[in-house]
Amino acid sequence: MADHGTRSRYSYELCRCDKCVEANAEYLKRYRAGDVARARAESEKATRIGQACAAYLSKRHPRIYRRIVEACDGD
Ligand SMILES: [Zn+2]
Repeated sequence: MADHGTRSRYSYELCRCDKCVEANAEYLKRYRAGDVARARAESEKATRIGQACAAYLSKRHPRIYRRIVEACDGD
């Protein structure tokens, strides 16, 4: 059996004492913080890809680029 104040005791042995509840809450907090960081990194990557595509298109296919920009207006 795992010690109290561990997430495994909370989740596998279904202990709901203060220590285990707290350990689980701490885990979830860290897990969500990781999710937020990952989502932010993904979003920043998408922005960089978008900027690179825009630079490429505006240089090589300015008319298509303009059409895309116009289509994206009014968001
Ligand atoms: Zn416990």
